[in-house]
Amino acid sequence: VIHNFNAGPSILPREVFEEASQAVLNFNNTGLSILELGHRTKTFQAVMDEAIALMKELMHLDGDHEVMFLHGGASTQFFQVPMNLLNDNDLSAYTDTGVWATKAIKEAKMFGHVEIVASSKDKNYTFLPKDFTVPKTARYLHITTNNTIYGTQWQDLDPFYNAGVPVVADMSSDILSRKVDFNKFDLIYAGAQKNAGAAGVTIVIVNKNQLGKVQRQIPAMLDYRNHIANGSMLNTPPVFATYVSLLTLRWLKNAGGVHEIEKINNRKAALLYQTIDSLPVFRGTVARED
Ligand SMILES: *Cc1c(COP(=O)(O)O)cnc(C)c1O
Repeated sequence: VIHNFNAGPSILPREVFEEASQAVLNFNNTGLSILELGHRTKTFQAVMDEAIALMKELMHLDGDHEVMFLHGGASTQFFQVPMNLLNDNDLSAYTDTGVWATKAIKEAKMFGHVEIVASSKDKNYTFLPKDFTVPKTARYLHITTNNTIYGTQWQDLDPFYNAGVPVVADMSSDILSRKVDFNKFDLIYAGAQKNAGAAGVTIVIVNKNQLGKVQRQIPAMLDYRNHIANGSMLNTPPVFATYVSLLTLRWLKNAGGVHEIEKINNRKAALLYQTIDSLPVFRGTVARED
């Protein structure tokens, strides 16, 4: 047995890659491989439509929230978010809680003002700083829900639901893994390779009411409004990676959705952390509550 504990690309359900490999040979009995299927065909349109619809269903999204399947990884969202939401003179608020948060902060500074409202940098990111205030003038507050490399995860999201400003979340390594009131977020992004498929596609969910408020010119491929208007088909989408995400979302729905997967994940996490804590050769490095 080979164990793969990588955060991403990570383990996929067996059904997913079996079906994906069949689609490489002959997609849905079309006689074509999914790798040679035109993205403007009805066949692929159905894949994209179902992927977007399933994402909305599994996350219980309301009518204001749009789902996009984009290129560029979560790392592109580090700058695409401020480019679309932050004017040069606007203020944004960021929590500095690890490697990915730090990268997001660096990129945001190119597009507007950034105030770091909380940081655990001086303690090597071993805990999550919970005592912070967000300026009411901030265009948005950015958080990283799960700090993949340091291993901390915000357990209580209530403070963000009640932040009083729009909340943007990098959920790359915990999207769809636990119950979250996704509608409370104005923007969510995640590279699919951690929790929702294979590398090559990035899932972005945005409250469309937050768009169209910046003055700067935005290149067509980086303007969320274009991707929404074109149903994630502004240019050639990541066809195969989107299909793998669709299969993963179908699998999740079959497994009972987010509600059920959260129970399974809690059991797996308990087993892992209990094992680490019970063996003297290992030492947990972050605050237990985080
Ligand atoms: C992996 C990861 C990223 C980077 O994702 P890419 O898709 O490789 O750009 C960003 N944020 C978090 C929280 C991650 O875990």
